[in-house]
This record gives sequence, structure tokens and C-alpha cells, in this order.
Amino acid sequence: MGSYDVIIVGSGVIGSALAIAFANQGRKVLLIERDWSEPDRIVGELMQPGGVKALQKIGIEHCLEGIHAVDCNGYAIFKENEKIILNYPVNKSPNQGKSFHHGRFIMNLRNEANSKSNVTVLEATVTQLIEDTKFVNRVIGVKYKKKKLTSFKTDSKLDLSNFDNETIEEESIIAPFVVIADGCFSKFRKQLINKSVEIKSHFVGFILKKCDLPNKNYGHVILAKPSPILLYQISGDDTRILIDIPGKLPNVSNGEMNKYLLDYILPQLPKSIQVSFSAAVEISKARIMPNSFLPPSKNLKEGLLILGDAMNMRHPLTGGGMTVALWDVVHVSDLLHPLKFKNFNKVKKVSEELKKLHWKRKPLSSVINILAQALYSLFSAGDNINLIYLQEACFGYFKLGGRCVSTPVGLLAGLIPSPLTLLGHFFAVAFYGTFLIIRKNWIYLPFALIRSFLVIFTAAMVIGPVIISELKN
Ligand SMILES: Cc1cc2nc3c(=O)[nH]c(=O)nc-3n(C[C@H](O)[C@H](O)[C@H](O)COP(=O)(O)OP(=O)(O)OC[C@H]3O[C@@H](n4cnc5c(N)ncnc54)[C@H](O)[C@@H]3O)c2cc1C
Repeated sequence: MGSYDVIIVGSGVIGSALAIAFANQGRKVLLIERDWSEPDRIVGELMQPGGVKALQKIGIEHCLEGIHAVDCNGYAIFKENEKIILNYPVNKSPNQGKSFHHGRFIMNLRNEANSKSNVTVLEATVTQLIEDTKFVNRVIGVKYKKKKLTSFKTDSKLDLSNFDNETIEEESIIAPFVVIADGCFSKFRKQLINKSVEIKSHFVGFILKKCDLPNKNYGHVILAKPSPILLYQISGDDTRILIDIPGKLPNVSNGEMNKYLLDYILPQLPKSIQVSFSAAVEISKARIMPNSFLPPSKNLKEGLLILGDAMNMRHPLTGGGMTVALWDVVHVSDLLHPLKFKNFNKVKKVSEELKKLHWKRKPLSSVINILAQALYSLFSAGDNINLIYLQEACFGYFKLGGRCVSTPVGLLAGLIPSPLTLLGHFFAVAFYGTFLIIRKNWIYLPFALIRSFLVIFTAAMVIGPVIISELKN
């Protein structure tokens, strides 16, 4: 095996895009992925306009082509019998997102990486980080178990028939810089960061065939009970539905899950979706993923960077994970630009520079993280009366239109990287809620004032802890 400037572990969204960005800067990259076949997952299917913008910056927007991706102009929000349409802001560019089959997009990214002469791809599972014996807290390479040999550089497409089926024992490879991008179930997270993953709910997913979505080219959010349901068309015939289930999941094997979905969820869906939904539940198996929250952390080791879901996750309600990941690629490749670093051999200097990443990513990533967690709390209000008031205030605020829509949607789209703007709109919603309470209950003013205070307090309790988690290292 040759010598490399950087080893990247994981060829998902961030690993593949970073390999391309580094290759474009002339770096020699080893990209290690445990399974090069097309992923079949229920994650990463809606790319916000902010993510499209990052793809443009990296020069790989064409990876959205040829996968039957569907344009997304914004969101349709359903609450009981009411509906509002939230368009992405027209004065921002791009003002469209894309929804698609995740696996197809990942294969485009992987093929693009593989087409670069300075990227070597390897099918192997990384098992261990190799630490320097002389310098404490410095990583110098990885150990991996190789299932199959890679010998394909025949054309720009990943051709799996070129893999040899030989099983080989554990091997090692060293490089001055290692990037860990092994996703939400990261094997290395525990040894690299001190924060732990919090899971409050799961998404249960199905593909609906030929579903008649009420608003084509819009993501659909249904403010159902006990928590929200998402729908977006991901190709000509296929529409993804993700049903959030908080707490313990109904049992799949004894039929409890299907009963819950058909008896409780189905009646809450718009009529035009119900037929394809019941068909999907009856003929296919529920796909389940945890909805995790992991605040970002600073890097603790030299020679190493942990990125993507391995380092930072938020509730997928707002579909922001890929946008955050792709902007991290932009930031890392800017920080380590060849004009600043001819190679990565000066490990200490590279690590010093990478310390800037934590704050450089914050304007965008904290907006997406905070918004996802805060909106999820509001949209899964359950029986909490103060949260129900906040949910109604949020819906009412959107109905005001103008900036009450364009700015919050711009924040969600990843087009307005401004945490203060987010904070302003969040509390504007809360105060709008108090206005609605007082207007409705002005005869019982003392009650209305107490309720208003509790609503503001609840808003602070929703957003405060997430903000604090963003400010910690
Ligand atoms: C239910 C759900 C829905 C979501 N929907 C959206 C959405 O619509 N829009 C959006 O932007 N975000 C969404 N997200 C978030 C988004 O999917 C992630 O933020 C994004 O995929 C993270 O990319 P990543 O590269 O960090 O990880 P991944 O894309 O998961 O890639 C990790 C890669 O590492 C490989 N790997 C793992 N371990 C090893 C190892 N030891 N050795 C070698 N390789 C290894 C894996 O095989 C995988 O290919 C969703 C998340 C969930 C849970």
C-alpha cells in the first residue's frame, strides 16, 4: 500500500465529499469504507438548499444528477384541518432543495471520489486507531480488517465485480492525518469525545408507491399526535414517509407496530395519502432508525479529526444533517488549503489550525442543531399545555407570512447562518403566543398573564439547554 496525506474512515456523505475536496487540492487520499455496495437506508433523503450550496462550493453539484432527484420548494405544514405553505426564500440562492434515494446520491459521491487518480479506495472495516508511542494523544494511522481486495481503477464507476473475495487478517496503515467519518453508530466516538448520544424517539420509515401527495415538490410535515410525520417524494414513483415515535417502540414482531400505524397514525394523514400508506404498511417491513442528539465537540487528539454524525447529530425533523456535514467539508478544506499546508506532516500545526473548526462551523451548525431540537420539542408537545400553546403560536406565526416565514425557513434551509436571528424569531414566536393567549382570555386577565409567563418560561427551557450544549467544548 502506498503513502497517503490523509486516511478517511467511512465513505458516507462527509467522508466521500471530503475525499473529493482533498483530492481536488492535490492530496493523496486513502478512503476506507466497510461496504461499497449501494446503501439502502431511510436517512439523508432531503437536501436543504444550504446543502446544495455547499455541493456547489465543493464543485460536486452534479452528484445530484441522474438519480431522479425531485425539486423541493419548501414545506407544506398540516395541523388538524389547516395547512400552510412555507416557501424557501426567493431572495436567496439556491432556493430549491432536492429529495432523492440516499443510496443513489452516495454512489454518485463515491464514484466521483473513485474517479480521482489521487484517491485510493479500500473495502475494509477500520478496527482501531494507532497512537504514537512518543507523542501522547497523537494518532498516526489505523488498523483495519480487509474483507476483500480492491483492484478497480478500470473506469470511473465502482465496479463491484472487480473486488476479489479473499479474506485477509488485520493490517495497518499510517498517515500524518486521519479523519473519522464513520456515521451515527461510530465505533470510535467513545474514545474521542466526552459527550454522549441522547435518543428521545425513533423514525419508522416506509416507501409509499405512487402516493398522491397534496403538494407536489414540497416536503410535508404533519403535526400529528404524539409527534410529527414527514413525507417527501424521493423519485418519480417513491415517496418517503417517516413517522416519529417517542419513547418505547411498539413491538414489530407481534404486530403491535402495524396496529399502531394503521389504527392511530393512518387516520391522522391527509386522505390522499391513506391508501398508499396502508398498502405500504401491509406489504413492507417497517424500517427503524434512532433520532439522536449529540452536541458538537472539540477535537482532542493530534493527527485526527472526527466529523459528521460521529461528532454531531440533531433530530432529523428539519433534514439538516447533510447540510452541516457538507459545510464542514468546505471549512476543513479551507482551513487546510495547500496555500497554507503543502502537506500534513507538521502534525501539531495542522491540529492547531483545525482547532478553529469548532467555532468556524458554529454559525451554521448551531442554527441547524438548535432549530431541529427546538422545533421537535414544539411539534411533539404531547399533553404539555405550554408546549401546545407554543406549537399553536408557531403555526400562527407562520400564517402571518412575509418575514415571519422567509427568515425561519431560510434558517432551516441552511441559508442564514445566524444564531441571533434564530433566537430573535424563536422568542418572537413565544411572545406571539402570549399575545394569542391574552387576546383569547382577556376577560380572565390574571389567568392569561400567568399562562403567558409559563409559556415564555417553557420556551426558555426548550431552547436554553440546547444553546448551552452548543457553547460547551
Ligand atoms: C432517520 C433519519 C433521517 C434523516 N434524514 C435526513 C435528511 O432528510 N436530510 C439530511 O440532510 N439529513 C438527514 N439525516 C441525517 C443524515 O443522514 C446524516 O447527518 C448524514 O448521513 C451523516 O453523514 P456521515 O458521513 O457522517 O455518516 P454516514 O453517511 O452514515 O456514513 C458513515 C459511513 O462510514 C462507514 N463506516 C462505519 N464504520 C466503519 C468502519 N469501522 N470502517 C469503515 N467504514 C465504516 C459506513 O458504512 C458509512 O458508509 C437523517 C438521519 C436520520 C437518523
